[in-house]
Amino acid sequence: MVCLSAVVAGCAAPTGREAPSSRAGRSAAPVEAGAGSASAGSTADRGAPRPPAVPLALPGLARSEEESSSEAVARRETAGRAALETAHRWGVDRLPLEAPQRPVSKPELKPVQGVKLQDGRPPVVYRVPTDEKIVFLTVDDGAEKDPEFSRMAAELGVPLSTFVADYLAREDYGYFRDLAAQGDAVNNHTINHRNLKVLGYDQQRDEICRQQDRLEEQIGTRPRLFRPPYGEYNDDTLRAAGSCGIEAVPLWNEEAFPDHMEYRYDDQRLHSGDIILTHFRGTDLWPGTMPDLLRKVVNEVTSQGFALARLDDYL
Ligand SMILES: [Zn+2]
Repeated sequence: MVCLSAVVAGCAAPTGREAPSSRAGRSAAPVEAGAGSASAGSTADRGAPRPPAVPLALPGLARSEEESSSEAVARRETAGRAALETAHRWGVDRLPLEAPQRPVSKPELKPVQGVKLQDGRPPVVYRVPTDEKIVFLTVDDGAEKDPEFSRMAAELGVPLSTFVADYLAREDYGYFRDLAAQGDAVNNHTINHRNLKVLGYDQQRDEICRQQDRLEEQIGTRPRLFRPPYGEYNDDTLRAAGSCGIEAVPLWNEEAFPDHMEYRYDDQRLHSGDIILTHFRGTDLWPGTMPDLLRKVVNEVTSQGFALARLDDYL
């Protein structure tokens, strides 16, 4: 375990089981050798393929064997140290597993568990059909605009898909522009965050389509994804969303909080393609900060053997 109180105070209290000397000793070896796909702390634009993980076996000997192997060892040591420092800085048990490269084309949606298809309507998706060991983190509403959270997600290489309501975001759309600039997606969560099921078609269309226009104006791209507040929708919702360019309506199978996860299924586990919901919330609304929340998600997801991928690349 790595110190879990790193974010605010700096991680200065290693446990007795893991003295600083043991950490320093491990840093000379490839990081997290048990999981060959651990990322080397990529901060690259998640719109582009992420760089490959630090190889655990030496690559083929291209030039003289001596030169190539010594350079490779040095590179691995440097990358390993950087990865450990990044994990240590944010207090996660280990770096997130590296997601596979984004798919060339989005997977075809079929009427399987977790996908609801209806002619002429955007599909409703709780879980993306995939065999990859990936899940997706989605963050809703927009009240808490914590720059530490954005930085932590970028440094850990965690891609976010956000669903933003105008009434919460309008005081500072710059925060969401910054998220978009680091490769995260900013999607539609209506203007006023009302329960759409109690509204007529025209009011629903106003709530959804006006937020399409607003996000296009504020962020620079028109969202393709829309999530109804509270997950409440009816056929008018889907029809209205489709009429202003929405291509899919992702809901969720798990909800994450700073101190626990809630699972939809009895096995209380993640499944490939699951969509995880969480919120931009501050300590007035739940027991922790946004970095605490992300630490909880990364540790849960990684310990179950999953990588976090970008939902907008798959829907
Ligand atoms: Zn919401």
